[in-house]
Amino acid sequence: MLNDLPTLIDPSEFAHRHHRLTGQVALAQMTRIHDRLSDIQGDVLIDWQFGIDDKHRIKIDGYIQTQLIMLCLRCLQPMSSTIDAKTALILLNDGQSSDDIPDDYEGISLTNTPISLTSLIEDELILALPLVARHTVCPSNEYVLSKNVTEPLTPSNPFHILSELKK
Ligand SMILES: [Zn+2]
Repeated sequence: MLNDLPTLIDPSEFAHRHHRLTGQVALAQMTRIHDRLSDIQGDVLIDWQFGIDDKHRIKIDGYIQTQLIMLCLRCLQPMSSTIDAKTALILLNDGQSSDDIPDDYEGISLTNTPISLTSLIEDELILALPLVARHTVCPSNEYVLSKNVTEPLTPSNPFHILSELKK
């Protein structure tokens, strides 16, 4: 049940209607993170529930998920990084106090509405990016070379085996 998401949203309207946003935005649109990526193909998925907290502030609960191809800082080869991050935002209008924001929520000030949904998702993604992208074990070029040189050629033809079995 994934839809393309609206470009601009009015968070206040969404909150009062208890709107749930589920969908995806192309990574290609999130230009602020492009220099961290080796490949900008793919989408960011969100499932965000809008609501109102007990101090009449707009809140968003949910998560963002994506699969990023980043550059390993050690070997500079591409590496895959799974992002699966909780979203817990309180959006403050002008004049609303940022006091008493629960520890597990992040408060952000709204400037103009409507706001860019892509930009809001991008902000959340930037917070969720690994500080240092690095393979646990970097692929070694030496291994690839020696494997090609020393491995004996053992041709195996599955169709040949199949035809043997049929006999
Ligand atoms: Zn590496």
